[in-house]
Amino acid sequence: MKIIVADKAGFCFGVKRAIDMANDVVRKRDGPIYSLGPLIHNPQVVDKLAQEGIIAIDDLKEIHAGTVIIRSHGVGPEILSEVYERGLNLINATCPFVSRAQQIARDLYTEGRQVIVVGDKDHPEVQGIVGWANGQALVVQNSLEAEALGAISNAGVLAQTTQPLVNFQQVVDVLKQKTEQLKECNTICHATGERQQAALELARNVDVMVVVGGANSANTGKLANLCRSTGTPAYQIETAGELRVGWFACVEKVGLTAGASTPDWIIEEVKKRMNELGEMNGIEESKEQLEEINSAEEGMQDSVEVKA
Ligand code: SF4
Repeated sequence: MKIIVADKAGFCFGVKRAIDMANDVVRKRDGPIYSLGPLIHNPQVVDKLAQEGIIAIDDLKEIHAGTVIIRSHGVGPEILSEVYERGLNLINATCPFVSRAQQIARDLYTEGRQVIVVGDKDHPEVQGIVGWANGQALVVQNSLEAEALGAISNAGVLAQTTQPLVNFQQVVDVLKQKTEQLKECNTICHATGERQQAALELARNVDVMVVVGGANSANTGKLANLCRSTGTPAYQIETAGELRVGWFACVEKVGLTAGASTPDWIIEEVKKRMNELGEMNGIEESKEQLEEINSAEEGMQDSVEVKA
């Protein structure tokens, strides 16, 4: 069984930068270290960081001293002010692409425009961007939601950095009909698009895709859905332990990709285990054993959510 890893897979620039900054803080440790929210959407990495002494908190009120790391998603200005007011040390690991979107939101608001963000209103990056527009931005997820908006005289539109370009353009097209003046700011980061393109190309050329990433990682879920849109079965997993031998029965080529919050060491572990399972499938004598394993795995599916 041949395993092909997507050209672009795993940590993006912004996530890698945030992890490097966190490791640097650990090296220079001066008191307790916290991250406001999990540093990335990957439980294995968060556990590893916790072992190194980085504690994820949900609210600044939980702490009274130490260093706070702001993750790559960024936060609104009110959070940064609170960090200073509480006398905490700040390590701002906001991805520079997100910082640019935040500054554009602030500028559009300052120019007196109605700020509109294309994205997921529940995503922390979007919540942070809205904060930079003084909390006054409207968030729309797609063109249908844009259609539902009333007429606006003067607006500025930007995107959550991980938005598909086509969705952003569809919303812009609708807004052009609804606004007298529209300033259009494309704040989409190329890392996501590149990963999606590489995954799509790979999915079209293999029998099965495996997509590695945190179960709560939106970009990993999108990668898996894109792969499925080609008609190729795609399995989303967090760790090598979730792989099932039955997925690779009679399979020649398997594609492997990973969300932006998946480190290289997890990708390598998954690849190694896939190789082992591929070899297991290739042994003629082990058919009975394979059937036994598959039926045992089917039993396990009740307790493990497999997102095929
Ligand atoms: Fe930055 Fe893009 Fe990665 Fe988001 S996906 S953290 S914007 S590099």
